[in-house]
Amino acid sequence: MVKENLAQVRDNIKRACEKAGRNPEEITLISVSKTKPVPMLEEAYAAGSRDFGENKVQEITDKYPQLPEDIRWHMIGHLQRNKVKYIIDKVSLIHSVDSLRLAQEISSQAQKKQVDVDILVEVNVAGEESKFGIACEETLQLIEEISILPHVHVKGLMTIAPFVANPEDNREYFRQIRELAVDIGRKNIDNVNMSVLSMGMTGDYMVAIEEGATMVRVGTGIFGERNYG
Ligand SMILES: *Cc1c(COP(=O)(O)O)cnc(C)c1O
Repeated sequence: MVKENLAQVRDNIKRACEKAGRNPEEITLISVSKTKPVPMLEEAYAAGSRDFGENKVQEITDKYPQLPEDIRWHMIGHLQRNKVKYIIDKVSLIHSVDSLRLAQEISSQAQKKQVDVDILVEVNVAGEESKFGIACEETLQLIEEISILPHVHVKGLMTIAPFVANPEDNREYFRQIRELAVDIGRKNIDNVNMSVLSMGMTGDYMVAIEEGATMVRVGTGIFGERNYG
């Protein structure tokens, strides 16, 4: 099931790229495996997936030792400062940085472990109360502040678009994030690069790709519905 779903998602990515005149190799598909058991991740791994997304520190630390070492783990959920230390040397990208205090903690833990950590700044593009992330207008300033911290490197932006029935409704938000990234990229801030745009989930990843996403985070479309017990 996972294998077939992955093939379907990869095919959709290819079609979205064709429509937008993009190369599918520009897109990283992140298999969002939160709440799913290790055997399902192994199935995705066997089908070629090397990028996995989790939203809880506990799940990353549980699954990490049980799976192959060449997996790139993506922390995509809200991250509490007191838990940074548990994942700092396990994740390849933290997508959900939305405050200077969190970035400072990542920097200091990275220094302790002598690693370098890549991060994305999470933007709450629609200004939804229920969502984490920083406002579009505050993003440049936060990135300037983060840029001077040692051992952390800003690689781009992440957003979670509103939950909508019609993915077209999110097209404008994806476009806004892309424009914001281009504007910030033009500032040529030291230690900042805006090459990654993490946007698009099961319901809207094709539209996100058409609007410039370089990472899409797909859970349900690969692993099926989640049960929260
Ligand atoms: C759960 C989650 C996803 C995947 O959602 P699906 O709709 O199941 O594809 C993507 N991004 C984040 C941040 C998530 O928490």
